[in-house]
Amino acid sequence: MNPPATAVANPPPPVITVPQADPGAGYRARKAEIDAAVARALASGWYILGEEGRAFEREFAAWLDPSGAQRAVGCANGTDAIVLILRGLGIGPGSTVATVSHTAVATVAAIEMVGATPLLLDIDPDTYTMDADELAAVLDDPPPGLPPIRAAVAVHLYGQACDLRPMLEACRAAGVALIEDCAQAHGAALDGRRLGTFGVAAAFSLYPTKNLGALGDGGVVTTADADLAERMAAIRQYGWRERYVSDGPGINSRLDEVQAAVLRARLPFLDAGNARRREIAGAYDAALAGGTLAAPVCREGATHVFHQYVLRAPGREALQARLRQAGIGTAVHYPVPVHAQPAYRGRVALGPAGCRETELAAREVLSLPMFPELTAAQVATVCAALEELG
Ligand SMILES: *Cc1c(COP(=O)(O)O)cnc(C)c1O
Repeated sequence: MNPPATAVANPPPPVITVPQADPGAGYRARKAEIDAAVARALASGWYILGEEGRAFEREFAAWLDPSGAQRAVGCANGTDAIVLILRGLGIGPGSTVATVSHTAVATVAAIEMVGATPLLLDIDPDTYTMDADELAAVLDDPPPGLPPIRAAVAVHLYGQACDLRPMLEACRAAGVALIEDCAQAHGAALDGRRLGTFGVAAAFSLYPTKNLGALGDGGVVTTADADLAERMAAIRQYGWRERYVSDGPGINSRLDEVQAAVLRARLPFLDAGNARRREIAGAYDAALAGGTLAAPVCREGATHVFHQYVLRAPGREALQARLRQAGIGTAVHYPVPVHAQPAYRGRVALGPAGCRETELAAREVLSLPMFPELTAAQVATVCAALEELG
C-alpha cells in the first residue's frame, strides 16, 4: 500500500523565469546571421585553419585596435590562449607566474600546464582584481623558495580592468611580462583604450557565455609583437612554421572554421551587446541604491562590460534562495578560491597578504542574471526583487 501523501512533501522547485545566463537566447537573437555563417563554413569543404579563421583573426585584431598594431591568433579555448602566450614567451619550468586566486581555475591551470609555478596574490575588495601593491611588493621582494618571477597574469575579472597602470609600472621595473587575461573583458577599456592592448599579450576565451562567444569552445590571443604572434601560431599547430616541419615543440590548439564563422557573424554586435549589459547594470544599480547589498564598484577611468554583475551579500545563500523563489537564477563566481580547492590546497604558493580578501569575497559574491538578450520584463522582475530584498 502506498503511504498517504503528507502535508510536508517537498514543494515543486520554483520555475526560473529569469535565468542567470542563456546562451540559447544569444543564438536565437542572431539566428539568421549565425545559420548563414555556419552553412558557409560547412559548404567550404575546409574545416580547420582556413579562410574563416584568418578573417576572424584579422577582424578581431582590427576591432581590438583600429590602428592595426595588434595581431590575433585563434586557438581552441581561453585556457590554451594563456598557455600559448606563456610558451611563446619561453616561460615554463623554473619560472614563477604571479596571478590571483579569485579567478576561473583556468588561469592557474594554464600556468601549471606549461610547468611554471603559480604565485597567487590577494585582491582589492572593491573591484575583485589583483592587489597592485601586493604585486609590486612580491616583484620587489620575491617570496623565498620560488623560482624567479617571469610574468604576471592580470585577470580583468567580471568585465572590468585591473589596476593596470601601477601593475604595468611594477612589471616594467622588474623586467617581468604582464599578460592580460581578457576572458571576461572583451570590449572593456581603461582610459578609453581597450583591454588586451596594454600587456605583452592578451588571452581571450570565446566560450559560449563570454561576451563574445562561439557555439562551442574557442579562444584567441592578441599581441602587438609580430614575432611572438608567429611563435604562438606555430606552437598552436605542432610547432609547424611550414606544413609537416616542426621548428619547435608545439601542441594542437586550433580554432575550427565553423566556430570562426560564428564568431565573425557575432563580432559586429559585440559592442551593442556590451552597451546593453551596461544598461542592465544601471537598472540593477538603481534598484540596489539605498539598500544594504553592495553593488559593483566601477574603477575610475574603466569602461566595464559586465561579463558578470556581481553584488556582495553577507547572507548570500538566503538571498539566493529568495531570488530563486521569485524565479530568478543566480550564480557564484567563484565559491571556492583556487588555493582552497582540493587540487591546489596546501601546495600552491600565496603572496604575503595570504588571500584574506579573496576568502571573504568567495563567501559573499553573487552574480545576477546578465546577458544582452534579457528582456525589459525580465530586468524589471530582477529589479523588483532587489528593491524588496535589498
Ligand atoms: C573562461 C575563463 C578562462 C578560460 O577560458 P576557457 O575558454 O574556458 O578555457 C580563463 N580565465 C578566465 C578569467 C575565464 O573567465
